[in-house]
Amino acid sequence: MEMILYSSWIMIWTKLRYMSYPEGTPTYVPKQKFIKYVDCYTEHFVIKPRYCTCVESVAYDGQTNRWMVIACDMVVGTETLYTVKFLVVATGENAVESIPAIPGFHSFHGEAIHSSAYKSRSSYAGQRVLVVGSGNSRMEIAYDLASHDADTSIVVRSSVHIMTKELIRLGMILVKYIPVTVVDSLIVNSANFVFGDLSGHGIVRPKLGPLLLKSKTGRSCVIDVGTVRLIKNGVIKVFGGISKIVGNKVSSFDAIVFATGYRSTANLWVKCMLNSDGFPKNGGPNHWKGDSGVYCAGFARRGLAGISMDAMSIANDIISTEYPFAPLSTDHVY
Ligand SMILES: Cc1cc2nc3c(=O)[nH]c(=O)nc-3n(C[C@H](O)[C@H](O)[C@H](O)COP(=O)(O)OP(=O)(O)OC[C@H]3O[C@@H](n4cnc5c(N)ncnc54)[C@H](O)[C@@H]3O)c2cc1C
Repeated sequence: MEMILYSSWIMIWTKLRYMSYPEGTPTYVPKQKFIKYVDCYTEHFVIKPRYCTCVESVAYDGQTNRWMVIACDMVVGTETLYTVKFLVVATGENAVESIPAIPGFHSFHGEAIHSSAYKSRSSYAGQRVLVVGSGNSRMEIAYDLASHDADTSIVVRSSVHIMTKELIRLGMILVKYIPVTVVDSLIVNSANFVFGDLSGHGIVRPKLGPLLLKSKTGRSCVIDVGTVRLIKNGVIKVFGGISKIVGNKVSSFDAIVFATGYRSTANLWVKCMLNSDGFPKNGGPNHWKGDSGVYCAGFARRGLAGISMDAMSIANDIISTEYPFAPLSTDHVY
């Protein structure tokens, strides 16, 4: 499956296997409707997530040929041991917040938070706020701040595709019939027409088109929510990368929001198949498969489409191990 949009809604193509959205669901599914859909899904298929439970360690017992998984209930603090033949690690590339090491960071006396902690825009009204990062979170938080009277600046360090959600949707439809480079060229030209030349504001496009870039590197484009207009109007100011912070006068900001992404931590407890960065030790195409029945899904920097492919490969592998004569599924849902 392929999820395309961010924060408050999700494109209708982001559906799970074996259950469509209810009749009349809008193309851009609002967050609450999506949550309801997921709740219906778990109820229908009797999936019982163990909420507030954190896996703390994993070890393979060669005597019983089983994985021993210790998980802690974060509410009551009790530990449970799960003994399983197959273990699928799907804890995501975005397990914990990542803030880059910036020289002088500790000398900044204003508020410095990660985007995941950004909750209340009202508390920034009248303040000078710098939003650091490269993706959708940066652009959405900057828009939110600037629309609520914060004096907002962003840092743009690397190239980025800024698109509209309609153009991305069009691209995803066309790419089924037309070569991706042609589609990319079409939607980039259209986006340039919509947004104009933003290079004067420090925003330049990567060489690869947005769809090709996503499929090759997993890097998503930025979907504009109105931020570009505020940048062009000078309401949001744009700076290049920050190399250091000097005291609380760091460029005179009262607060910094680091929309600098997340990182995987599964390597701390699945050392056997993930490297120190939390990504599979195996290169493709079998990056999802470890030894003795351990698998990982969603660690190949390929977005939801990649996760879907990993999930299908893993399910097929487990089925072929358990039921060698069962037919395997070949279709993927994006
Ligand atoms: C703000 C934001 C917006 C995004 N928007 C998009 C988008 O529009 N389109 C897109 O394709 N991708 C988007 N992504 C990337 C997106 O997060 C992934 O594509 C997708 O959610 C990954 O799914 P996943 O199931 O692999 O991991 P996750 O959705 O991260 O799920 C992993 C789960 O594992 C749990 N977990 C972690 N460690 C443990 C542990 N030790 N024990 C127990 N549970 C654990 C976590 O709590 C979490 O519930 C976005 C990411 C962020 C941060």
